[in-house]
Amino acid sequence: MAKHQFQTEIGQLLKLMTHSLYSNKEIFIRELVSNSSDALDKFNYLRLTDDAFKEQEWTGRVSIKLDKEDGSLTIGDNGIGMNESDLMDHLGTIAKSGTKAFMENLTGDAKKDSNLIGQFGVGFYSVFMVAEQVDVISKKAGEDQAYMFSTDGSGEYEVKPVTKEEHGTVIYIKLKEDEREFLDKWRTQEVVKKYSNHIAYPIMLNYSEEETEGEGDDAVTKMVTKSEQINAATALWTLPKSELKKEDYIEFYKTIGHDSDEPLTYLHNKVEGAQEFTTLFYLPKTAPIDMYRADYTPGVKLYVKRVFITDDDKELLPPYLRFVKGVIDSEDLPLNVSRELLQENKILANIKQNSTKKILQAIKKLKGEDADTFIAQYNRVMKEGVYMDHLNKELLLDIVKYKSSTEEGLVGFEEYVSRGDSEKKEIYYITGEDEQVLRNSPLLEAYKKANIEVLIMDDKEVDSIVTPMIGQYKEWTLKDITTIDAPDSKSEEEKEEVAKEFKSLTDKIKETLGDAVKEVKTSTRLTSSPSCVIKDPNDPMAGMAAMFAQMGQEAPETPLILEINPEHEMIKKLDGLSDTSLFEDLSWILLDSAKLSEGLEPKDKSAFAQRVATVATKAL
Ligand code: ADP
Ligand code: MG
Repeated sequence: MAKHQFQTEIGQLLKLMTHSLYSNKEIFIRELVSNSSDALDKFNYLRLTDDAFKEQEWTGRVSIKLDKEDGSLTIGDNGIGMNESDLMDHLGTIAKSGTKAFMENLTGDAKKDSNLIGQFGVGFYSVFMVAEQVDVISKKAGEDQAYMFSTDGSGEYEVKPVTKEEHGTVIYIKLKEDEREFLDKWRTQEVVKKYSNHIAYPIMLNYSEEETEGEGDDAVTKMVTKSEQINAATALWTLPKSELKKEDYIEFYKTIGHDSDEPLTYLHNKVEGAQEFTTLFYLPKTAPIDMYRADYTPGVKLYVKRVFITDDDKELLPPYLRFVKGVIDSEDLPLNVSRELLQENKILANIKQNSTKKILQAIKKLKGEDADTFIAQYNRVMKEGVYMDHLNKELLLDIVKYKSSTEEGLVGFEEYVSRGDSEKKEIYYITGEDEQVLRNSPLLEAYKKANIEVLIMDDKEVDSIVTPMIGQYKEWTLKDITTIDAPDSKSEEEKEEVAKEFKSLTDKIKETLGDAVKEVKTSTRLTSSPSCVIKDPNDPMAGMAAMFAQMGQEAPETPLILEINPEHEMIKKLDGLSDTSLFEDLSWILLDSAKLSEGLEPKDKSAFAQRVATVATKAL
């Protein structure tokens, strides 16, 4: 008999399950039933597509047996089953990104971690919240030998050959002393109803009950074994909407979403006509933990005429909707559709397009707290959508939100436009990495003075790439305030007047700074700061950052224009300054501090510090 060590991560997970998690233990039933349901789906598919299994009489079912005397609960199915290496690979190692991500997110704080467990399914291992011993007896369909995988959850497991008639899996769970509540028929039935009512297969509950026959002195009490179906066993999405209540939808979500929380919203659609398909989608309240991992687990399952095809196809929805959970059931795809060719399938492409639109419309309809929750969780992925999905750009632009220079909280384009200048039809924005830097940017001064709202876009590595690609929102044009003239009340003549007046000064600063700036000019956008830097609006590279990012390259540095504030005391005094070394220091300080205000680095940080010290000393 071979003993094996669990993979290290599983060891950790097991420890957590046995020692730290105490709330919500009942979900182990949901997880095991869900695995059985998957296994039944897989066998059903095999039966319908593989000649070797075609002739078999088969009715898929899950059975749960409660044994009070033994203190054990057994969950079994007649699904696809596992052979020796399946048992070791699937139960002895963590292959899935979701579980790995779960492990990485553990805080060590039992309370927080047990909330985390509710956020996403941890699968088979959740059984160790209640088990002191687990035996998984399984026989793979089409194979002769059955195997038993046994463990007490302490870090080691054993696998040995055993005999078993039918293909499928039986999981024997010896419950811990204080977890015997799950041997109560009502308790277990309640949990099954709550999480697994609408899995497509019947769940049979087997238990023994005392029954009294006869009356008075003749009365005999004996134990009678009983068996009853405890779930609805209908694929929920196939039922007409009119027959379904909100509770039914939420129940089903808990099954397929492995979530104990309710979804934000759901949408159930039956499309008839040239193509027929049904979709049922849910938006989870909390984003999946692996949402930002390349190897995320997709949340949508594909069925063909109620037969499960795959739950591992990332192409069923666009990648930016990877947080959506649900089901697509097509009437038109062939059952034996090759999983590799799914991407190129026209029928699926049509379903994908239709589904995307419906989901985005449902998101757009979210109101109040729900809308806020959605944005808090998914604003960033929606921006990915803006970048990638040109077909649905309009809808997506009505969903994404940004910070604002004039408003609290987050603002959408629609809201911005509703109070913007409807003659000019311009949406002003500034992008960067740090909210405070953006809010304090000298470039904002003129907008503040003119009472014009500017969107503050500080979503790292996203806004600066995505926003320049937007261009238009309805008839409104998006304007990066670092590349355009500031709003001001001065006429062109007045501006030229000022420029002429300060020409000798701006020329002298340019001469001092050399190639560090492209141009030095007088500014009309500043009120309290002496200087600012802007990107050259005529530079062909400005706004191409997105293109470079797409190619995985860093954008070349765009030349900067230094603007000085002719109203500022320092600039006025600088104009007549005779101390040439002080003039030089101050010119550099004007540039470097302007750069710092935009979150850019001075070219030579120690020189900058040196100059500030020199100037400060002179001032004393
Ligand atoms: P998940 O179900 O998300 O893949 P689990 O931890 O729940 O993760 O299960 C791990 C794997 O073990 C499953 O993917 C499946 O391959 C296998 N497995 C678990 N239970 C069964 C079962 N009852 N029948 C067949 N295979 C199973
Ligand atoms: Mg599972």
